[in-house]
Amino acid sequence: MNDEFFRLKDIFFDVKKLVAFTGAGISSESGIPTYRGEGGLWNKYDPSRYANINYFMQDPTEYWSFYRDVRYPSLKNAKPNIAHKALVKLEKKGIVYRVITQNIDNLHQMAGSRNVIELHGNHSNIICLNCGRRFNMDEVYTMVGTEIPPRCSCGGILKPDVVFFGESLQTSALDKATLAAQVCDMFLVLGSSLLVYPASQLPIIAKETGSKLVIVNIDPTPLDGIADFVIHDSASKVLSELLG
Ligand code: NAD
Repeated sequence: MNDEFFRLKDIFFDVKKLVAFTGAGISSESGIPTYRGEGGLWNKYDPSRYANINYFMQDPTEYWSFYRDVRYPSLKNAKPNIAHKALVKLEKKGIVYRVITQNIDNLHQMAGSRNVIELHGNHSNIICLNCGRRFNMDEVYTMVGTEIPPRCSCGGILKPDVVFFGESLQTSALDKATLAAQVCDMFLVLGSSLLVYPASQLPIIAKETGSKLVIVNIDPTPLDGIADFVIHDSASKVLSELLG
């Protein structure tokens, strides 16, 4: 750990309202690939075909093949790792006030975090675009074994309840996240490239409203320059050393 880590550790337990802001990097040690960075999905799959709402509406088959062959196998047995569990301990100690996540993998809730704001939805929910009926991931995985795209009994196409590129975030989630960023005294980024708008504005809002900004991410991010602490290391390592 670098000097920055020890400076952070000195003040960490004086924090009153910590917001943890998580991205795909926090789940990489649970076996779910990130989007960007080493081993990132978008190095291999073009997001304009596999995660774009306009493309999906024209041709949902590519997304659902990707779901069957790539997404579901990594999501289905994923379990929370040390970093998710550390955030639960910090919530129980009264330090973590909110977890704002860009992840759709449900691992914070599975670990036991109570105050989770999901910005990009949750892959456990899959919805019929015609009648709104809900399905779970396992049911739909069975369906895509025989039919792509999967359809509801009403004939409607199914879509996971996650925010694709070209879709707006739910206003209620974004409002709650913005408020949390405004009232916290430390905003801790864990495993996010901070490249996806509007989520990437939250660390800036936190900083501008008086919070300390901490970035823990393996690769550099565009906001490293405005952060009070930057640690290029794994989220689980940093959190367990902070707690240890
Ligand atoms: P990202 O893949 O852009 O960045 C992950 C970062 O984590 C990388 O910079 C990497 O250096 C870092 N990292 C990897 N392992 C780490 C570890 N163990 N500890 C610390 N850092 C680690 O992920 P992001 O920032 O979450 O991306 C933004 C969001 O875009 C995604 O979360 C996703 O919700 C959204 N998105 C969703 C879809 C979709 O599902 N349809 C499509 C595109 C984007």
